[in-house]
Amino acid sequence: MHYAYQVNKIKSLIEHYTCKSEIYPNDLLTSTTSEFKKAAYHLFYEFIKLKSFRIHQDPNHIHELFSLIKQSSLKNQVEKKVFDHIEAWWLEWSFVLEMEEMINNDKNSPPMACLSKNTIYSMRKHELSHYEKLFTVLPMPVCNVCAKTGNILKVNQRFIDIFGYTIKDIPNISVWWDKAYPDPQYRKVVKELWSSSLDDAQKNNNDIPANNYRVSCNDGSQVVMEISGIDIGEEILAVFNDATERLRAEDLLRDMAFLDALTKIANRRRFDEKLADEFKKASDSKGTLSIIIIDIDHFKQFNDFFGHVAGDTCLHDVAQKIASTVSRPEDFVARYGGEEFVVLLPQTDTQGALFIADQIQKAIEDLAIVHKGSFTGLLSLSMGVNTIDKTRNYDMLDFVKGADSALYYAKNQGRNCIALNPR
Ligand code: GH3
Ligand code: MG
Ligand code: MG
Repeated sequence: MHYAYQVNKIKSLIEHYTCKSEIYPNDLLTSTTSEFKKAAYHLFYEFIKLKSFRIHQDPNHIHELFSLIKQSSLKNQVEKKVFDHIEAWWLEWSFVLEMEEMINNDKNSPPMACLSKNTIYSMRKHELSHYEKLFTVLPMPVCNVCAKTGNILKVNQRFIDIFGYTIKDIPNISVWWDKAYPDPQYRKVVKELWSSSLDDAQKNNNDIPANNYRVSCNDGSQVVMEISGIDIGEEILAVFNDATERLRAEDLLRDMAFLDALTKIANRRRFDEKLADEFKKASDSKGTLSIIIIDIDHFKQFNDFFGHVAGDTCLHDVAQKIASTVSRPEDFVARYGGEEFVVLLPQTDTQGALFIADQIQKAIEDLAIVHKGSFTGLLSLSMGVNTIDKTRNYDMLDFVKGADSALYYAKNQGRNCIALNPR
């Protein structure tokens, strides 16, 4: 028989009443009708209802249990006194039950009647054996925490599988905080969130509301868990739901909403958002922002000659090439429409933008995509560049229009070239 669960529960009881008995020693240790004795009986009742817990056979589980606690950690004389009381009561109660059982000769249902009339509390929320089973088979991690001492009383197998912590690793909630949230700043946020969730639950007499927490596991990996809880009086049952997959799916959906399906770069919608952001930033700080609008030359002919499927592949390859050429993290590339692309370059002046446009042109030349309708025999691009800075102040639409006009100019110049908005 493993006693870790029972040992922790009794230790919690001892610790709790040790604190109390330091304040009211006589009341607690002498009055047999005290709250203390009832709590001890309550626990006794829980344990003898466990099928695995036997009091009338060798080895006697109560003896074993108390000798384990005695060996482990009784910190001082008061704890020892509290412990002695519990042990004496438990032996007395188990003796009565044993006698009763002998009389009734009914081994399957230990008689409680003579003891239970006055002292047994109703089993809080669940019938214990049912609850025990549920706890073990639940497919999500769960753990029981003593509300008074913060001791972690029990974790289920799923908890150990996912986090890699056993009760030995995290005997109480403060060790859990340190291990599950090693970053002190994040730990502070998490503690505040959990404590306000507990307050919420107590105020509204409700369950502890679910929130997402990034938990560090024993092997150093991290999982995002949606943690909620049920306050069952002396204990809190914390329930963990793995949110990693759900958040990943949400991220993916968000990315998909902003991703152009064919070219796998940002789409027009994302560009509109990004443009508004960057334009505002540049205007507010009186900074610089450049834009390049890129259009593939004679692309209609490319399609006509090679077909739409080859046209699609070509668009994908050109988009990816442009994206890999523009490499600063703050730079941004999107598909602007059909065979047009757009590049936003924050804090980049005209010279810088022309340099990037030139790099893009060279990169596409390197791809050497055959194009019969092109003057050079290879696929080429025309580009229009515009910049805002302290000297040139546009509104946002004029800023884009400026690049468009420059592109129009480049086309008129015979294509395969870069033009600057002259204004
Ligand atoms: P210009 O040099 O003046 O830009 O000539 P162009 O032929 O590229 O310009 P135009 O606007 O006349 O034609 C653009 C073509 O791009 C028309 C269309 O067939 C092609 N196109 C637009 N979107 C797609 C797409 O998603 N896939 C394919 N395969 N072709 C596309
Ligand atoms: Mg076009
Ligand atoms: Mg074109």
